[in-house]
Amino acid sequence: MNMADDPYDKPPAPPVRLTSARDSSSVPVDMKPLPKEPDSEEKKKVKYGTPSKSTKKKDADKPVISPPTNFEHTIHVGFDAITGEFTGMPESWARLLQNSNITKSEQKKNPQAVLDVLNWYDASTKEKQESKYMTMNRMLAQLLAQWQQSTYPSPRPSYLPDKETSNIVIPPPVSPKPEPSPPSTPEEEEEESGPPPPVAARPEKTKSIYTKPVDEEVKNGAGFGFDKRDIANNNNTAARPKKKKMSDEEIMEKLRIIVAVGDPNKKYTKMEKIGQGASGTVYTAIEIATGMEVAIKQMNLSQQPKKELIINELLVMRENKHPNIVNYLDSYLVGEELWVTMEYLPGGSLTDVVTETCMDEGQIAAVCREVLQALEFLHYNHVIHRDIKSDNILLGMDGSVKLTDFGFCAQISPEQSKRTTMVGTPYWMAPEVVTRKQYGPKVDIWSLGIMAIEMIEGEPPYLNENPLRALYLIATNGKPEIKEKEKLSPVFQDFLDKCLDVDVDKRFSACELLKHPFLKLARPLASLHPLIVAAKEAAKSH
Ligand code: ATP
Repeated sequence: MNMADDPYDKPPAPPVRLTSARDSSSVPVDMKPLPKEPDSEEKKKVKYGTPSKSTKKKDADKPVISPPTNFEHTIHVGFDAITGEFTGMPESWARLLQNSNITKSEQKKNPQAVLDVLNWYDASTKEKQESKYMTMNRMLAQLLAQWQQSTYPSPRPSYLPDKETSNIVIPPPVSPKPEPSPPSTPEEEEEESGPPPPVAARPEKTKSIYTKPVDEEVKNGAGFGFDKRDIANNNNTAARPKKKKMSDEEIMEKLRIIVAVGDPNKKYTKMEKIGQGASGTVYTAIEIATGMEVAIKQMNLSQQPKKELIINELLVMRENKHPNIVNYLDSYLVGEELWVTMEYLPGGSLTDVVTETCMDEGQIAAVCREVLQALEFLHYNHVIHRDIKSDNILLGMDGSVKLTDFGFCAQISPEQSKRTTMVGTPYWMAPEVVTRKQYGPKVDIWSLGIMAIEMIEGEPPYLNENPLRALYLIATNGKPEIKEKEKLSPVFQDFLDKCLDVDVDKRFSACELLKHPFLKLARPLASLHPLIVAAKEAAKSH
């Protein structure tokens, strides 16, 4: 769009946030040093139950399992409702909890949520490399370190657990009989290497959390069109041998099939660096043949710890073209590098806008509608994005709104419609993800609701909380409180309620939300232009 013809060409200065949400000065800095990480590389099962001598004893004597690789370790953690103390909690967890700012009364209110988040934290200690795909341990360590240095909350990392993280399934209510292990879902079966680990019979009135190793979440062919047999085999997974991680050579083979032939250096010119992500560097360039400006993301493959995710991202972007999705154009192998060309969105990310400016309801409705159009399309095509947040929304100068970052998305199928792997960015995560319940496409709707809060308040709820406590609060509080909610129009309040319903069945789908009256308030997309300009100005002055 030619901005010279645009009625918003000379907009009145949009309201700018007085306190940039990037400002971390309000973040408390009195955190104690991060406690030592749990030192075991084992996968753990957590059983939360009433304390008993036997469980205490078991806790004291951690079972010794041989051989010392690829084994599981059952931990029985009790909670004494009278003293408000956990029993049998590993020392490392106790230290984490002590530093978490989760108060005693909160622990008493929802001890299982405390164990959920601790277990999540503890989930993957194996990952050693710094990367976007950092494990919870590393992510939280980084967040806590940033917090201590007052640089928090920026950046706002995404989190994907190591494939060998523990997986918590909250069991059905206590029954007088020993409970059978929870039924496996298709995805859990996908994630398992055979039948689930046995769950010991538990005494009456004992609640438990059952954890088991998660096999590959993003695996070759998990519905991304290059090995459909995986899905076909879903009903027969017990007999299926564990899938091996793709070797580097297999990854390269897949990539060679996907990428275009030719030298991109001959197709594109005038490359200028515009951004740096964890997995690579982004440049603008001009396509010589058409004169079109494009963005090129260059990733050094030897430095990518999770190459499967890159293949995942490439294939999903390639297969799912939509006006509200950043369009994939092509990809190339250039020596050790993978280059991905895509359409260029010069307006920056929605994060810049929400942190630097104040959006009105018409602008928020416009963004919500555009993102919902992308989500309706993705969900219809059985893709869950799993990392919806303002950082992953890019803007055109004309106000176009496009979803990006498909590294974490999951393809679902009728046979495999539910997921359990914890993926995403904690503050935007739906409660069913945090508590490791089965989840489906509506996790994206929850995250959209959190993103709408970002558009109102400049940041998601709990961003200034200790991350462990934030996870606890998501698991416990469900729908977050919105400051000055009464100042929002009733239709907007209702829209938020429909996005942020803890009851997944009652939470609206993308299709339903697109019919919500709030979206009738949407202003033209061009109304976003002054916000983009103001955000750029504000960023320059920082
Ligand atoms: P990664 O996905 O590697 O973890 P990231 O999500 O943090 O990284 P990138 O996708 O690598 O970020 O993008 C880095 C920077 O480039 C970001 O500031 C992003 O806004 C910008 N950028 C990425 N893609 C485009 C695009 N198509 N148009 C304009 N800017 C882009």
